[in-house]
Amino acid sequence: EAKEGGKRRFAVFTPAMRDSIVRRHDLKEELAEAISNRDLMVQYQPIVDIQTGEAISVEALVRWNHSDRGRIPPMEFIPLAEDTGLIVPLGRYVLEEACASVVQRSHTLQVQVNLSAIELEHPDLIQTITDVLERTGIAPGRLVLEVTETLLVKDAERGAATLQQLRDLGVQLALDDFGTGYSSLSYLRNLPLDTLKIAREFVEGLAFSDHDAAFVRLIVGLAKTVGLKVVAEGIETRAQLDMLREIGCDLGQGYYFAAPMDVDADWESAPVAAALV
Ligand code: C2E
Ligand code: MG
Ligand code: MG
Ligand code: MG
Repeated sequence: EAKEGGKRRFAVFTPAMRDSIVRRHDLKEELAEAISNRDLMVQYQPIVDIQTGEAISVEALVRWNHSDRGRIPPMEFIPLAEDTGLIVPLGRYVLEEACASVVQRSHTLQVQVNLSAIELEHPDLIQTITDVLERTGIAPGRLVLEVTETLLVKDAERGAATLQQLRDLGVQLALDDFGTGYSSLSYLRNLPLDTLKIAREFVEGLAFSDHDAAFVRLIVGLAKTVGLKVVAEGIETRAQLDMLREIGCDLGQGYYFAAPMDVDADWESAPVAAALV
């Protein structure tokens, strides 16, 4: 399997490696408990019109505050959840929680939920999404599912077919972290996408690297030409924002506007204030 081939083979086995393997093992067991105990929670980060700071959507991001170990970053536990299949109940929890919260909070905001490749391959996916739409009463067009190109690596045709089925439910689709994976123009041409999210890596160098700026300009132009919305991820500075405005990027997300926030926080004021500065 491709995943196995990607794993590193160690020449020397150090105590640090042993600790890391033990931690992974323990976390897998604890994650199962965390899901059934509802020790996970969801934070929300605004996605805004970069001219006005007005939030048009929020991205749901799962959080695990471990009772003994403290906060564990998604980059550490999402891969474990994928390995164990726990990503399926975890994903369903985030989806349901996010849709229910946004319906309660607003009549217009969209909500974006990350879907891992494992979830997309799962035979119950379409039924799960249908159930969640029904149970929470959210208008399908307000739910945006974020996927990455990795979903297409194993079986591009099947991946594209699943995305089309989701689209047929009326939900929107965003391609996340664009530019970092196996980006291919054929994906943009063949997939039923609504939004392209420019990976933070490109936005990072925007203000000091002509080279990175050229790529962002190209991606924004490309997205607009083919009728996709485009979101710049990871905006942290005023200089990056200025460049994005000059380039003509419409939407953005990042600490400059607002960090991910709890469900009961004010999602809308900070981004508007940041846009005005
Ligand atoms: P992502 O989907 O690309 O989410 C954006 C990540 O960038 C989030 O990290 C967010 O907190 C972070 N971020 C936002 N603005 C900035 C900024 O200005 N600067 C920097 N340096 N970072 C910023 P987070 O929450 O740690 O999540 C990491 C990744 O874990 C996500 O990347 C996503 O791939 C995955 N993830 C998070 N929640 C879920 C989930 O519920 N389900 C699945 N399948 N994956 C999830
Ligand atoms: Mg995302
Ligand atoms: Mg992203
Ligand atoms: Mg991602």
